[in-house]
Amino acid sequence: MTQSADAIVIGAGVIGAAVALELARKGYQTVCIDKNPAAGYGSTSSSSACVRAHYSSRDSVAVAYEGFAFWKDCENYLGAPDERGLARYVNCGTVLLKSDDQQYRKSLEHYRALGVPFEDWDTGTLLSRVPYYDAHRFWPPSRPADDSFWETPTTELDGAVFTPDSGYVSDPALATHNLQRAAEAAGARFLLRRTVVEVRSGSRVQGSPSTAASASTPRWWSTWPARTPLWSTRWPASSPA
Ligand SMILES: Cc1cc2nc3c(=O)[nH]c(=O)nc-3n(C[C@H](O)[C@H](O)[C@H](O)COP(=O)(O)OP(=O)(O)OC[C@H]3O[C@@H](n4cnc5c(N)ncnc54)[C@H](O)[C@@H]3O)c2cc1C
Repeated sequence: MTQSADAIVIGAGVIGAAVALELARKGYQTVCIDKNPAAGYGSTSSSSACVRAHYSSRDSVAVAYEGFAFWKDCENYLGAPDERGLARYVNCGTVLLKSDDQQYRKSLEHYRALGVPFEDWDTGTLLSRVPYYDAHRFWPPSRPADDSFWETPTTELDGAVFTPDSGYVSDPALATHNLQRAAEAAGARFLLRRTVVEVRSGSRVQGSPSTAASASTPRWWSTWPARTPLWSTRWPASSPA
């Protein structure tokens, strides 16, 4: 059996599934491969799924800021149903504490340059908006073996930075499955329980079954040049969703 693909995405985490969706929508014949039995079972499933823009590089802030709009409108963005339901974006905003390492200043600089909406809170505002916070300074870091670890802090932080458009996703693995279904609706194919073991020069990819995890699946082997011909393989009859 010979098949061809324009683009092969290795890894069906939230990044790989989203890339597969965008490639498929652009008209590329796309295959997304993952060694796990389902999309989003890698580090994505362990994520706190906090959607925030406080990063130290401008590029990261810009990409995350752009992402807010997609998450807020994810049902329309996906445009495809998922039998498991859709993950929800909870737009509760996020708080970045003004800790003494001053890292927040980098984010603030990028927020201003890129027009990311934010509120600059003093300590009083922080405690009125988030009363369960302890705004004391626990700085510098110390180990339990140090006496200073047990000292009661007496001074408070300078406040916090609140970004109202940020929030969290109710279930990151489900959000990835949603992306998989949307990508499939756009023509992408997902191959699960397959481990890519080698990427050869000349854009050839060689895959094989993973060891223990795929012991029950048929033996599988393939090679892909990008674009042309492709993969001659004994193909498993079906892939788990
Ligand atoms: C505890 C924790 C909390 C986090 N909290 C947040 C948060 O609040 N907000 C946030 O934005 N980010 C958070 N992150 C980071 C976030 O989870 C990751 O940045 C994101 O999930 C990365 O997605 P990914 O698709 O790149 O990787 P993954 O989800 O890890 O996907 C990579 C996939 O590639 C597959 N793979 C790897 N090698 C092969 C191979 N050879 N063949 C086939 N398949 C292969 C793996 O099986 C895996 O499914 C957190 C991460 C952790 C661990």
